[in-house]
Amino acid sequence: MDFDFNEDQEMFRDTLREFLEKEVSPVVDEMDRKGHFTHEEGVNFMKKFKKLDIGFDPESLKAILQDFTLFGILTEEISRVWLGLDLFLTMNLGTALVSVAPPGEIREKLLPRVEAAELISCNAITEPDAGSDNRAMKTTAVLDGDEYVINGNKTWVSNAPIADICLLVCKDENGDQTFFLVDREESPFETRELPKLGCRAGPTGEMFFDDCRVPKENNVMNMIQGLMVDGEAEKLSKEFDLPPDFGMANLFMNMSPVSAMFCFSRSWMALAAAGVCQAALDASIEYAKERMQFGRPIGKTQLIQNMIYEMISLTETSRLLSYRALDLTMKGSADARLMSSLAKGYASESAVKVTSNAIQIHGAMGLSEELPLERYFRDARSWTIPDGTTEIQKLVVGNAALGMSAYR
Ligand SMILES: Cc1cc2nc3c(=O)[nH]c(=O)nc-3n(C[C@H](O)[C@H](O)[C@H](O)COP(=O)(O)OP(=O)(O)OC[C@H]3O[C@@H](n4cnc5c(N)ncnc54)[C@H](O)[C@@H]3O)c2cc1C
Repeated sequence: MDFDFNEDQEMFRDTLREFLEKEVSPVVDEMDRKGHFTHEEGVNFMKKFKKLDIGFDPESLKAILQDFTLFGILTEEISRVWLGLDLFLTMNLGTALVSVAPPGEIREKLLPRVEAAELISCNAITEPDAGSDNRAMKTTAVLDGDEYVINGNKTWVSNAPIADICLLVCKDENGDQTFFLVDREESPFETRELPKLGCRAGPTGEMFFDDCRVPKENNVMNMIQGLMVDGEAEKLSKEFDLPPDFGMANLFMNMSPVSAMFCFSRSWMALAAAGVCQAALDASIEYAKERMQFGRPIGKTQLIQNMIYEMISLTETSRLLSYRALDLTMKGSADARLMSSLAKGYASESAVKVTSNAIQIHGAMGLSEELPLERYFRDARSWTIPDGTTEIQKLVVGNAALGMSAYR
């Protein structure tokens, strides 16, 4: 077992750090205070990342799928500078994956826009009466000729107000969960912004689907099932030169589409939480060494050292759990569900504690808008809710460990 990054991974991290330092750090606080991105600002960021070969097009995806530690590094490093930006960018990953697999009409339609880094995406699961209990969702897709007709409302969806594309989870005629790719241009839907405490880079919003007609081939579950039966998976795996142990598609065969998606998104969210922990920790160590009170640096006091100890232990544990969860998810392991929930629950609660300690260590300056500590805290506080609250993560872990559900 090797806990060190290899040379390529280190180079990737260093280049990314340099880019973030130059392009994002100088603007993050002003942009975060101003409010969410416009579509144009979002696309500008995507295009900047693309210049670094970090995008959601096939070539960038290939690099990440071949070595998913790179995805971990990407998420941690962006979140160390701006968690909200990481949320905005990662929402585009689902659509990018759909756009490259399998070859067909969807690929032809989507790929050029994905490659141009002009397509903003969102993933819609939550509904007004179906939050933690997403199985209670009411949005339906009913087949009518060559199209599905979608009716229902989604809420709290990241990027929704500026999204061009939506990966929408809903129920089919049999009441089974399925998901669709909804292109706003060909299948228009309405949105409304919901302003919020943290993670302000991308806007969050409600979505309204009112007899929204979507082409039949946009049923993503059918696409995934096609991959499993036609030997298409092997073709795709060759095209992408995937490692032999890559098995994420198995998750979709062994659990509901939402649960399979959650394995990935919870691992990602845990990594992002580790990133914001690291930022708060680094700032606190620096400040504790410089800030003089009672004639000595505050870092010399045992109570500050106790807080630093706690912050380091929470940060390191979050990181290790997150990479473990990502690894199990990408391999399609049966343990991915338990570990991704454990990592997300632990790391997001850790981020609240670590960013709160960071504010305490900085005294009044910790609350000031002159420093990023209050933003770290707002963002971290927002992270314990999406993709399953901490309570739900505990119940998922309990269910996976005991084989007994406490919520159903
Ligand atoms: C920043 C942010 C981004 C988001 N992005 C997206 C997105 O992109 N797409 C999307 O679909 N959704 C998104 N969401 C929505 C998010 O996934 C839901 O808010 C979340 O699942 C919780 O649902 P709820 O808010 O309806 O809370 P509820 O489910 O109403 O829960 C309220 C409280 O009750 C507790 N609770 C509920 N059931 C139980 C139980 N059985 N046992 C114990 N406690 C329980 C919860 O833990 C919580 O404390 C986002 C939310 C936020 C804050």
